[in-house]
Amino acid sequence: MRLILLGPPGAGKGTQAEFITAAYSIPHISTGDILRQNVKEGTELGKQAKTYMDRGDLVPDALIFDMVEDRFAQPDTVNGFLLDGFPRNETQAQTLDTMLQRKGQSIDAVILIQADKQLLIERAVGRRVCRNCGATYHLVNRPSAKGTHCEKCDTELYHRPDDVEETIKNRIEVYESQTQPLIEYYTRQGKIVSVDGTKPVAEVSNAIRQAL
Ligand code: ADP
Ligand code: AMP
Repeated sequence: MRLILLGPPGAGKGTQAEFITAAYSIPHISTGDILRQNVKEGTELGKQAKTYMDRGDLVPDALIFDMVEDRFAQPDTVNGFLLDGFPRNETQAQTLDTMLQRKGQSIDAVILIQADKQLLIERAVGRRVCRNCGATYHLVNRPSAKGTHCEKCDTELYHRPDDVEETIKNRIEVYESQTQPLIEYYTRQGKIVSVDGTKPVAEVSNAIRQAL
């Protein structure tokens, strides 16, 4: 399975990625996670990407393409993958198609998760992420049983610097202007599977399972 998760920030892509990757035994490739790891490690890529990420703007395509090519070169991607946060604009979508065509591959389905703006803001403001394993919680919707620490690895949770209201609003605008056109792009390819992201986590998972 070669899948893409498409949807605005806070829609629940990372949350749903957990069950999809387990069900299909495919790796979860989140460009946001890879970038945050680079920022944490202070790599050259991380230094270049950080200013864009802190503002909630897209990181330049050239940096993203090198990063994605490197990730695709790893052996765990041979039987499929779940892309989360990539592609983010039409250039990235076209480049992805070209990259896959060169290998005689293509995307099987694009899972579109949507929710209204107010809900997206509430979800992102309340999101807390484990510094170590990346597990995602929500202060109200999905609190950690260990409070300020991760249930899985006991590491402290953090509030992403781009999960403050002003930056989230910009990220939603960036999504609407640059990423939303991909719905049309993948509809033309007949690949969109659409689910209602406002429903509880288990209901969204069920809808995705049935659609796939
Ligand atoms: P994305 O990866 O699309 O930015 P996340 O999966 O990180 O979104 O979800 C954003 C926040 O909303 C997280 O705190 C998560 O726990 C919470 N969340 C995700 N899906 C749901 C849902 N269906 N109902 C309620 N809260 C959710
Ligand atoms: P995410 O974790 O998907 O919410 O992404 C966090 C931030 O990383 C975004 O606001 C962008 O600054 C950057 N980013 C992640 N993926 C991409 C991408 N495919 N293209 C450009 N920027 C990206």
